[in-house]
Amino acid sequence: IIFPHKATTAPRIPSTRLALHHFDTSYGLHLGALWPSVRAALLCEQKYGALLNNFAAADHVPRELELLNATDFVSEAPQKAQQWQRGAAVGEAATGCQEDSGESRTGLQAEMVTQAEMAPPLCTSKIKCYTFPRGDITRFRPARPDALGFLDYYLMDAASLLPVLALDVQPDDFVLDLCAAPGGKTLALLQTGFCGYLAANDVSASRTKRLYHILHSYVPKEVRDTVSVTSYDGRDWDQVKGGTFHKVLVDVPCTTDRHSAMEEENNIFHKRRTKERQMLPMLQLQLLMAGILAARPGGAVVYSTCSLSPLQNECVVERALDVAGAHFNISVHVEALSHFRTLFQDTFSFFSDCRLGELVLPHLTANFGPMYFCKLRRM
Ligand code: SAM
Repeated sequence: IIFPHKATTAPRIPSTRLALHHFDTSYGLHLGALWPSVRAALLCEQKYGALLNNFAAADHVPRELELLNATDFVSEAPQKAQQWQRGAAVGEAATGCQEDSGESRTGLQAEMVTQAEMAPPLCTSKIKCYTFPRGDITRFRPARPDALGFLDYYLMDAASLLPVLALDVQPDDFVLDLCAAPGGKTLALLQTGFCGYLAANDVSASRTKRLYHILHSYVPKEVRDTVSVTSYDGRDWDQVKGGTFHKVLVDVPCTTDRHSAMEEENNIFHKRRTKERQMLPMLQLQLLMAGILAARPGGAVVYSTCSLSPLQNECVVERALDVAGAHFNISVHVEALSHFRTLFQDTFSFFSDCRLGELVLPHLTANFGPMYFCKLRRM
């Protein structure tokens, strides 16, 4: 039997395959020999972190998680960096020679330790996020409600916390989360307990509903009332409230590489969404510019994506620095975050060749990310 209408329709190539083909071409070049292992990790189950909810009565949860061998990667980071320092000192004593170590492990350790010593303290230390050690793929149980109904933790890609930690929220800061939904990072910002005022914005009404849902499930009313939730197009934020925020998070829409490699639903590599995908770097630049304009002079902006693409990461930041200077006469500096690599190397695999900012690479033993983040200071 011949079905002529079917014979003329070319079989649709799955979006996940289109995504992988695209990644093979561009990331193969960008990441070189690292790409095959990153690719394998992208196609395997991702790891989660459990962000403890400081607003829930859940004092027993840390003990419960520690019995399972999970640890709070935020609070243990400085200690781990010190262990590296000791390792470096022992290495130097053993070889009796610092200069010769060159590219060796001890030389690298010493350099990283210097970075850790110079690093500002992690002021957002009220944030606690538990992860299982490298190579341990245990899953967390689903979150449970306390007596008042607030859930004890929020499961998220632990690398998503790094942009929030990089923002370094200080007591009474005015904070803007420009692309906030579904709200994982908004919740983390609230866990610092430091936001004097938090504006959480997202253009999508349906995703903003999810943000409300998270706020209701985790945050008591008196704290929720300090959060202003809006659904503006973030590109127009300057017309709402320009130059007022101490800290701005710009967690932009991107190719969401892990999702695009694994899920057909809502995949940005679908043929129908080609134009939208090609326009992403422009949208990202406009959102980052709006974030810079929303920051007060001296304020900090963290730009983040969950993509490995330099076109969506470093290139957007570079363009924003140019545009800020040329069109707005605003000087913007990039702040080094290399101490993050030192502090969190036990938990995450970082790309060592990022031109600007930091990039967490998915790895089979630490399958978080991808997560790119870059910190800017409006002068
Ligand atoms: N920060 C969120 C979190 O941690 O849960 C994830 C944000 S997601 C990567 C990007 C968000 O940007 C999406 O929710 C999308 O609706 C929003 N978005 C896209 N275009 C936007 C625009 N023009 N203005 C504001 N938000 C936008």
